[in-house]
Amino acid sequence: MTTLPPHARRAVVIGAGFGGLALAIRLQSAGIATTLLEARDKPGGRAYVYHDEGFTFDAGPTVITDPSALEELFALSGRRLADYVELLPVAPFYRLCWEDGSHFDYANDQAALDAQIAARCPADVAGYQRFLAYSRAVFDEGYLKLGTVPFLTFRSMVQVAPQLARLQAWRSVYGTVAQFIQDEHLRQVFSFHSLLVGGNPFATSSIYALIHALEREWGVWFPRGGTGALVQGMVRLFQDLGGTLRLNAPVARIEVEGQRATGVVLQSGERIAATQVASNADVVHTYERLLGHAPRGRQAAVQLKRRRFSMSLFVVHFGLKCPQPQLRHHTVCFGPRYRELIRDIFHGNALPDDFSLYLHAPCATDPSMAPPGCSSHYVLAPVPHLGQAPIDWAVEGPRFRDRILQYLEARYIPNLRADLVTCRIFTPEDFRDELGAHLGSAFSLEPLLTQSAWFRTHNRDRAIGNLYFAGAGTHPGAGVPGVVGSAKATARLMLEDVEGAPA
Ligand SMILES: Cc1cc2nc3c(=O)[nH]c(=O)nc-3n(C[C@H](O)[C@H](O)[C@H](O)COP(=O)(O)OP(=O)(O)OC[C@H]3O[C@@H](n4cnc5c(N)ncnc54)[C@H](O)[C@@H]3O)c2cc1C
Repeated sequence: MTTLPPHARRAVVIGAGFGGLALAIRLQSAGIATTLLEARDKPGGRAYVYHDEGFTFDAGPTVITDPSALEELFALSGRRLADYVELLPVAPFYRLCWEDGSHFDYANDQAALDAQIAARCPADVAGYQRFLAYSRAVFDEGYLKLGTVPFLTFRSMVQVAPQLARLQAWRSVYGTVAQFIQDEHLRQVFSFHSLLVGGNPFATSSIYALIHALEREWGVWFPRGGTGALVQGMVRLFQDLGGTLRLNAPVARIEVEGQRATGVVLQSGERIAATQVASNADVVHTYERLLGHAPRGRQAAVQLKRRRFSMSLFVVHFGLKCPQPQLRHHTVCFGPRYRELIRDIFHGNALPDDFSLYLHAPCATDPSMAPPGCSSHYVLAPVPHLGQAPIDWAVEGPRFRDRILQYLEARYIPNLRADLVTCRIFTPEDFRDELGAHLGSAFSLEPLLTQSAWFRTHNRDRAIGNLYFAGAGTHPGAGVPGVVGSAKATARLMLEDVEGAPA
């Protein structure tokens, strides 16, 4: 048996989302010639960018946390993130608003937090300290120790069971918060975070309460020029390392001989040979479409489709001809219902009449996101995915957009519709058609305890030994830190396998 050194290996990574980019950077940094194949005309995946009439609109992630995970990608080759992209601190982290006109500024300032908590419920000041201690404990176990571990065997899951039991991981995020905090609005402040990674706060494991500690530990950031500038920085790093990125290169199938992947075939018919193949594309798409010609692909797709998938999102990007100094960078606009609305989104079969919104106002941190004197925004509403509610988004989308803009105009942005310069929508059908997302889910598999770690799609396929996965459908799950962490776990496996594998 001959063993090829890393530089004689060729890896193909399918999909240039954050997970695919991070994986490609790690492989290329280790000397493996890596080709990154992206179906769309721009990299980034959910972090795509639109440019309309001088406005820059990030399509997806805007809350950038754990910069150390990103810095690590640059440090692998002795480079510095700061030389590629500038991260600006965001303060407050979020403003959370309710329909009674009150708001809470969630900032990394203990005194300011205590004062706001005390104004709502004095007993919750001490309760918050206990919640923060819990959140930090989960952060240490769940993120620092286990966030980049590939759970390939059931045994690896059993080994962490004592930690999960100690942290009461069977409880929901909301249930855990409610143990410490009495005020209903404050319970929302400290439980909504799991929605940012597709998790229902009333069902998702309390492990996801770690997001609170993660933000307190490392802050919330925004790249100058938008999240797209971070994507571009990662692309530049990959290319500086000698990696190849090909855009408009949709993969049609993964070629397999016996139990080995031998390369991929593009929709154009071009074949690209590889010694290792990794997919950052949707996990159902990968097994069903790209590997549907092989028994393993069909079988895995059937099993995956029985799982629960996260909700979808309805997003409106809009540019205004005036600034909006009253807005903070990140605003959560709670509607009249919380628990009931979330139940309708995750379990209902229709579009609810009310909504809760996330409103992005990046010009609060970086005015260059819009032409001078203007402001760039997006607003999103969590909505049921396509398997949950039979909504015809071609009809409902424009109506829903109008309802949302009207609501924002009445409560947050006076004159919004008169000041509109440009506006576009992205619906669950676009998640399905543009990104290949199963059921149009915005975050892939729902982050339930029974769908986490070993129960999630493994970083290495269990039958095809040189086929790998990185991204939201794998451990630890969605969110930029999650998929960058998944890439670290996957890269480690790929590099270990390279050392020992036959040529
Ligand atoms: C609106 C929105 C807001 C969000 N906000 C935040 C936030 O503020 N902070 C945060 O941390 N996270 C946020 N998230 C979650 C985060 O964006 C995602 O979890 C993460 O970006 C997903 O990355 P990924 O690596 O799984 O790849 P994806 O972004 O899903 O990219 C996969 C790529 O694969 C490509 N592809 C698919 N099929 C093929 C094929 N056959 N051939 C070639 N290429 C293919 C796709 O075109 C795509 O580019 C948000 C998500 C959304 C949708």
